[in-house]
Amino acid sequence: MDYPANHNTAPISPALTDRFGRQISYLRLSVTDRCDLRCSYCMPKGFSGFEEPENWLRFDEISRVVAAFSRMGVARVRLTGGEPLLRRNLPQLVSQLSDLPGVRDISLSTNATQLHKHARVLRTAGVARINVSLDSLDKACMQTITGRDSYASIMAGLQAGKEAGFDPIKLNMVVMRGVNEHEILRMAQFCFEQGFILRLIEAMPMGSTGRNSQFLEISAVRDELVEHFQLIPAATEMGGGPARYWSTADGKSSIGFISPISQHFCASCNRVRLSVDGTLYMCLGQDEKFELRPLLRAGISDRDLESAIRMAIELKPERHEFIEQPNKIIRFMSQTGG
Ligand code: SAM
Ligand code: SF4
Repeated sequence: MDYPANHNTAPISPALTDRFGRQISYLRLSVTDRCDLRCSYCMPKGFSGFEEPENWLRFDEISRVVAAFSRMGVARVRLTGGEPLLRRNLPQLVSQLSDLPGVRDISLSTNATQLHKHARVLRTAGVARINVSLDSLDKACMQTITGRDSYASIMAGLQAGKEAGFDPIKLNMVVMRGVNEHEILRMAQFCFEQGFILRLIEAMPMGSTGRNSQFLEISAVRDELVEHFQLIPAATEMGGGPARYWSTADGKSSIGFISPISQHFCASCNRVRLSVDGTLYMCLGQDEKFELRPLLRAGISDRDLESAIRMAIELKPERHEFIEQPNKIIRFMSQTGG
């Protein structure tokens, strides 16, 4: 995929490569573990075990970490959470990250409930593209899945996102047997009409919520959509992530399929996650992690910060074990930074 050209320069340190020869080029940055929704597969109802504010990385600390990553070739950063739009002054962080040498692409994952308030300023600050979670087009079904009356605000957020000019806008739909599987065709049609890229995602057994999420394998869904819309495998690689894309014959519309469980993509994993408290998580489906906050608050130098990150990357496991050990990961997706 091509990223917008900007004035930023190339990395100045050797690339970050793990023990299995995978180059790390993508950082997912959780700016909060809080959320205004309680999606059934993500965060339990009534959950309140959030990180204390004094443990949140400050914007200057986040910028130092991202700068270190960018010097080692990590050009792409995605802001996520929890719900990232709940972090106060987020556009200010985006501006700081946009100014960093080597950062070429800043994107955002959001539930869009607050997007109507922030879309324009985030776009201006440097967020190029967004992913929005939307599991249903039915108001009552959304209430059931998200635990809140969220539908109208999400629709307003999507409209604001279009008007602000995010490109592309991808819609993430976690497919669940007996919950929203009957809506997949309708969701695809909606995305085609609106110019959004739909991505269908298998639920991962993260925490009790993820384990009880009515797992639905993506291949059956894909076969049905391929037949219905006469889809063909996308000619160009889109997004540089785990989704495998299929397009309509005219190439105007695409659907991405993300199958972390039934067809995992660990061999080409290019990412790590930084949680709001400064913990680097190496894999969604494993416990390997590295705490950066104590080092940052002890005044670590830029050079030693780079070395610490290199040590952390050494811990990255070869693959997840969601199938072999489905009960292993007790943290929720919202805590890691999805
Ligand atoms: N709140 C934002 C949102 O919902 O887009 C960003 C954070 S959310 C944790 C990021 C993504 O993780 C969403 O697309 C959500 O659907 C997905 N997710 C959460 N829990 C999941 C699970 N157990 N399995 C698969 N995807 C999950
Ligand atoms: Fe919140 Fe996103 Fe998790 Fe839903 S998926 S509970 S919107 S963090």
